[in-house]
Amino acid sequence: MILDSLDRPLRDLRISVTDRCNFRCSYCMPEHLFGKDYPFLPPDRILTFEEIYRLAEIFASLGTKKIRLTGGEPLLRRELPVLIAMLRKVGGIEDIGLTTNGSLLKTFASELAEAGLERVTVSLDALDPELFFSMNGKRGEAAQVLRGIEAAAEAGLSVKINMVVQKGVNETEILPMASFFKEKGHTLRFIEYMDVGNANGWELSHVTSKQEIIKIIDAKFPLKAVPPAYPGEVASRYEYMDGSGEIGVISSVTDSFCSSCSRARISAEGTLYTCLFASRGHDLRSLLRSDMDDAMLKAEIANVWNLRHDRYSDERMHTKEARQKIEMSHIGG
Ligand code: SAM
Ligand code: SF4
Ligand code: SF4
Repeated sequence: MILDSLDRPLRDLRISVTDRCNFRCSYCMPEHLFGKDYPFLPPDRILTFEEIYRLAEIFASLGTKKIRLTGGEPLLRRELPVLIAMLRKVGGIEDIGLTTNGSLLKTFASELAEAGLERVTVSLDALDPELFFSMNGKRGEAAQVLRGIEAAAEAGLSVKINMVVQKGVNETEILPMASFFKEKGHTLRFIEYMDVGNANGWELSHVTSKQEIIKIIDAKFPLKAVPPAYPGEVASRYEYMDGSGEIGVISSVTDSFCSSCSRARISAEGTLYTCLFASRGHDLRSLLRSDMDDAMLKAEIANVWNLRHDRYSDERMHTKEARQKIEMSHIGG
């Protein structure tokens, strides 16, 4: 197991399989910037399944245990279940997850489960149909996402829900969402709105903090904090006192967790990023398409990880440095 310069292992790998999306969430791919003429990646600049598999094997040999597929919208990538079946064969990978906006999940849930996927995280920011519709750039219906969630559960997938909370936008949905998914038995995770990328016009005043979120829920459904389920878990966990399950809060802004961050990210075009807020990455696609063998590739990746010292969220409040960052739809969350 290799360690970075702050002694953090390379335990998790997030792989973006496409930079395209059928939604235009204002905090991620605002419509005015990701319009008809946006230069999405052409197919030959996107990693093939074979290239992704090769990288997964190399990362596994460096200690990676978990892989999460993301995007853009990963279910837009043709034949995604084929990739999942391939990744299931990588020795040392104990867990494969998928993060999706859920719009196509009803169509693909059983195929994904048959391919060996066990867990899916579905992003849903509101149950209110009009609010959800406006938040995703008038592309997706909440009812369709809920049908996707049901289909995933029926197919035997374990389902978690992610909700990004934006002050003055969807705070009113915190309780309805908590109540709905408590009833359904799916863990809901609230994500503090983050300053990923440069496109969303983020300001600290737009963030609803972990404390505020917990206070709202605890007043109606009493909660107790519980320890992380595994080392490096990014969500703080809280159980409902009535024993009806748990929620999580991912508090990158008000209570950062860089000291245990064991995640590497690979964009759809094969660039390796060592932080969600990175300005620059390392081009693995060129290396994959050169005559480098696996041992050389492994040494390159190990070197990048050994030198890693990122801790952007720990430093966010104390620095005035404005940095150019990779967009969320590119790096995959
Ligand atoms: N399209 C898929 C989806 O929405 O689930 C996968 C990719 S999306 C970039 C991954 C996650 O990042 C989603 O849960 C999304 O809500 C979250 N996200 C995007 N922009 C964000 C931001 N500025 N702050 C916090 N979370 C964000
Ligand atoms: Fe698409 Fe996901 Fe970004 Fe929304 S958050 S625009 S669904 S990639
Ligand atoms: Fe990891 Fe970077 Fe997020 Fe810190 S800011 S938790 S180093 S991705």
